[in-house]
Amino acid sequence: MKIVLVDGYSDEPSGLGVPPYLDVYARYVAGAAWEHDPYSEVFYLTIDQVREKPDLYVKTASKADLLVFLAGVCVPGKYLGGEPIKLAELRRYPLMVEGPVKVLGGPAAKFGIGVEGGRVAKLPSEVANSFDLVVNGDIEVVVSDLLRERLNVEAVDPSRARRSFKEVEGKAVRGAKVVKQHPCYGRNLIVELETYRGCPRFLVGGCSFCIEPLYGPPDFRKPEDVAAEVAALYSEGVDRFRVGRQPDLLCYMAIGVGEQEYPKPNLNAIEKLFRGIRASAPLLETLHIDNVNPGTIAHHPEEAAEALKIVVKYHTPGDVAAMGVESVDPNVMKANNLKVEAEEALRAVELVNRIGAQRGYNGLPHLLPGINFVYGLIGETKETFELNLEFMKEVLRRNLLVRRINLRQVMAFPGTKMWDVGDSIIRRHKAFFKAHKTRMRSEVDQPMLMKLMPRWTILRGAYTEAYGKGLTYARQPGSYPILVCCRSKLNLGLYLDFVVVDYGHRSVTAVPYPIDLNTANRRLLESIPGVGERRAARIMSARPFRRLDEVFKALEDREVAENLVRYATLS
Ligand code: SF4
Repeated sequence: MKIVLVDGYSDEPSGLGVPPYLDVYARYVAGAAWEHDPYSEVFYLTIDQVREKPDLYVKTASKADLLVFLAGVCVPGKYLGGEPIKLAELRRYPLMVEGPVKVLGGPAAKFGIGVEGGRVAKLPSEVANSFDLVVNGDIEVVVSDLLRERLNVEAVDPSRARRSFKEVEGKAVRGAKVVKQHPCYGRNLIVELETYRGCPRFLVGGCSFCIEPLYGPPDFRKPEDVAAEVAALYSEGVDRFRVGRQPDLLCYMAIGVGEQEYPKPNLNAIEKLFRGIRASAPLLETLHIDNVNPGTIAHHPEEAAEALKIVVKYHTPGDVAAMGVESVDPNVMKANNLKVEAEEALRAVELVNRIGAQRGYNGLPHLLPGINFVYGLIGETKETFELNLEFMKEVLRRNLLVRRINLRQVMAFPGTKMWDVGDSIIRRHKAFFKAHKTRMRSEVDQPMLMKLMPRWTILRGAYTEAYGKGLTYARQPGSYPILVCCRSKLNLGLYLDFVVVDYGHRSVTAVPYPIDLNTANRRLLESIPGVGERRAARIMSARPFRRLDEVFKALEDREVAENLVRYATLS
């Protein structure tokens, strides 16, 4: 059996699969193939590879028995690591191939695909001519069924959901070896780990826009099963992980799930989960988390604090607890059944700072909150934008740190309360949103970044990923990495240390650390605080330096030279 998987990338509230991240879908589907027949040939291609070499894709896929496209719910947006598949490509690429049974799976097939701010194109009608089967159930179990039924699409139910995680575990372990085909393998690959599905707030209907309550009561993976998958991934060479596939890490196997809207964090289970991951991957490089519900913190502050201490004990620094505050406007909160009021959200931010603000070995605080706001919700007015901005300014005034502020427009999915509203509020408030975003970026994001990474902060191990106009972009692999812009063309694919010298709205300008004063180009030298054009020219005409004290003479400014020498080297 020959199977080709085309990963169109996914980006969901719980789960990321845009490079360097690899989400669960491709791994589970590959595992389903190898569970069915260990000798199956599985070829994994990303959509970027397909775009780059369409002929190779056609040649490989034409010889396959089964062609599976995986696509996510993606707002067309910019990602440094790859470009998610577009609706037109989902129609076009399968039609270029003749022979295999063609299947579409992943969140796009389940919920629709984002086409522009707030709009979702419903599938399968949009892609009916391109696929033999559009799976709106769980792709890995439907592929399993399909293989068992000898690829007879009539014999399987495309809406079949997994009965429990038991159906996934074997696939998760077997599918681990597909990671070796990922373009980021051996470089900066981060693998997303799933611990449960479903939101405990399904009891009260959940938030108006969210699909998670549609799964019903949460279904948890056992810590030992997660550890077994990590061991399999680690033995294949994966050393970066994110425990990102769950709506609220603090609710992992929480006490009172199914009875309470906000169950109590289960410290034993969280400890067991993280201990198991660490034991399975003892020399891992990155272990981060993602979503944390501020409502859980507000209702169980003591247990939440203990749970976050466990995270900090086992994780690696630079971690983010992304909190879906969504809106601090009380009217919006009520109309959309959101989780926390402004004061509760502030307390949650304070608590995460208290546990995680200490700086770690890579230059970043251990664990900080991220804040997500959603716009276009029921009850939103002009004042909503003011309240959210004011909330973030209060965070700044209280000297609290936030790693990332995410402002997104709601995407309405079938089955949610927002479906009937659609993008009508977004369209009405388009200008408000645009102005709000600009103000948030300049009045909050940038000052926050300056507090988070003061000038001369040394950032360890940022991976040089891409070039921009006269720039090299680098990021420390992990949750919501901060973009490091360097005004020089550095070799790509390297882990380098940088020192922060300046700020964009959501990025920092940095120079490689230590900076080689004998080889650094003019633009790089000019970007160093206190150096500027004139002194950069003096440095360049005085080199080569043999000793660092010669720099003092060249600059004739003791303070600037002292600072510079502290971060410099001579080749
Ligand atoms: S708390 Fe709200 S946003 Fe979070 S998973 Fe539950 S329903 Fe979704």
